[in-house]
Amino acid sequence: MLQKILIANRGEIAVRVMRTCREMGITTVAVYSDVDRDALHVRFADEAYALGGQTAAESYLNQDKIIEVIQRSGADGVHPGYGFYSENADFARAITAMGVAWIGPPPEAIEDMGDKISARKAAARGDVASVPGTTDPVTGPADVIAFGEQYGWPVAIKAAYGGGGRGMKVVDSPEEAAAALESAQREALAYFGRDEAYLEKYLTHPRHIEIQVFADQHGNAVYLGDRDCSVQRRHQKLIEEAPAGDLPDEIRRAMGEAAVQVAKATGYVNAGTVEMLYQDGEFFFLEMNTRLQVEHCVTEMVTQLDLVREQIRVASGEVLSITQDEVTLTGHSIECRINAENAAKGFLPSPGPINALHLPAGPGVRWDGGYEPGDEVSQYYDNLVGKLIVWAPDREQARVRMLRALDEFAIDGVHTTIPAQRIVLEHPDFASNTHSTRWLETQVDLSGLTSSAGDTSTTEGEDLVAREVPVEVDGRRFGVKVWLPDAPVATASSAKRSAKPKPAGGSTGGSGGDGTITAPMQGTIVKVLVEAGQTVAEGDSLLVLEAMKMENSINAERAGTVKEIKVEPGQTVSAGDTLLTIE
Ligand code: ADP
Repeated sequence: MLQKILIANRGEIAVRVMRTCREMGITTVAVYSDVDRDALHVRFADEAYALGGQTAAESYLNQDKIIEVIQRSGADGVHPGYGFYSENADFARAITAMGVAWIGPPPEAIEDMGDKISARKAAARGDVASVPGTTDPVTGPADVIAFGEQYGWPVAIKAAYGGGGRGMKVVDSPEEAAAALESAQREALAYFGRDEAYLEKYLTHPRHIEIQVFADQHGNAVYLGDRDCSVQRRHQKLIEEAPAGDLPDEIRRAMGEAAVQVAKATGYVNAGTVEMLYQDGEFFFLEMNTRLQVEHCVTEMVTQLDLVREQIRVASGEVLSITQDEVTLTGHSIECRINAENAAKGFLPSPGPINALHLPAGPGVRWDGGYEPGDEVSQYYDNLVGKLIVWAPDREQARVRMLRALDEFAIDGVHTTIPAQRIVLEHPDFASNTHSTRWLETQVDLSGLTSSAGDTSTTEGEDLVAREVPVEVDGRRFGVKVWLPDAPVATASSAKRSAKPKPAGGSTGGSGGDGTITAPMQGTIVKVLVEAGQTVAEGDSLLVLEAMKMENSINAERAGTVKEIKVEPGQTVSAGDTLLTIE
């Protein structure tokens, strides 16, 4: 069994992995950026090493530095979490070449599933049907029109290398084909560096159902039930549950078996998720995520398995601890991703200090968090504060329990997605399980939402409290306990806090009706998608602003011609700065 695991990640998933390591008697090694010197995952680890840098690219994605820390710490295994390196075949190869265990699938499987076209081919090898579509790159608008005539409209144009809900354009009619293709390819090139696109029939009311699979190095593969992740905004998940409600037993079994066939067709080992779309009694392969998913917790609650433990065992060469016959699903679990986003402002990222955090407790409640009071949600990374998970004997009780838990949840300092999640959980369509992937965006009125940030001022404590202060000796971090006034006035992050502006308001579009496009929040310009003199339509993406690891597309709120571009890639901007003008 592995002895010492380096977690090449941060936030809640790093803490989650460390918790299991601790139970297994495995030493944990954290890595951290300058911003994260005193972050929860660093405080939680047995050892921690500085990577330097602020942005993800400068720190967590600095491969040479991580490799150096692996050698220096003597770690014999690396867990990538999700995001960052989790689907990076080159990194997996580099680790393995060092004789260190990669706690994930073989690099070849990552590559197979890394682009959507080769993933569709892998599914076909496993005899599993994908959403009707093509496996050859689109050559022009005529391909789109021919496809629409054959399969019916709407048609989805998808970037082969797309991901994270980006790189997909929906075309409703032949007239829109040319413009949509051009815009899909331009966006794909800007975001992913490659513009190959293919076509899929766009399903109008599917449910997103995914299957958790697990395989070991000895040829055993099982499915651990399914999850429904149909509550999405911008094709990104907001609430997940297990098992998927109201699924006929034979369909559930067929989907599970199909997922195992896909895994086998690609020589899969370790944890993976096969995503499918389910509509009108039929299911189709969508893609496979070759990592532990954010929403793995709901599967853990209904299977009573620890998936991270299983991952570590498999990476250590052990046989899966369960056979398919032994997998039993008990009760129902729901997860809310609590993101620091302002649901009332179109889910605008809302970084900032967490002044206070009161967590729900009681029967059937689990919290997988990445922050504690006094910590700060940085603009540089993902804005997931943590995941609230409940378990109950059935779906209805789980739904009510989640509402109760959300009532108990209190946070001061950042906005969260909770107001939107409450509306969803209370909605009759969700309660009766008749929602689908576009339901939240098209059927639910979120206009009445109010802000959830609570009090953004700090509360000063009179009493002295024990506080671990980080010191770094030659790049390795040690914690020194000192007695100081209460946390909010004593930590490094609170010093930054007083200098930091309150989360910015404004629309995600960041565009005024007068043609002046301003930054909706502080961040870094990663891409400029247009040129001066170019004509743009309302809704076209103009720039990509990275804030909190999330790339935010800044769109035109009116049609016109681009007059002046005032920023360039790499430039840091503040909320309200003029980025571009349209006339
Ligand atoms: P990504 O890799 O960006 O996550 P996916 O292909 O997994 O993209 O799709 C993400 C979401 O987009 C799905 O959960 C679903 O809501 C929607 N989607 C993708 N393809 C289709 C399709 N052919 N028809 C309808 N919805 C789709």
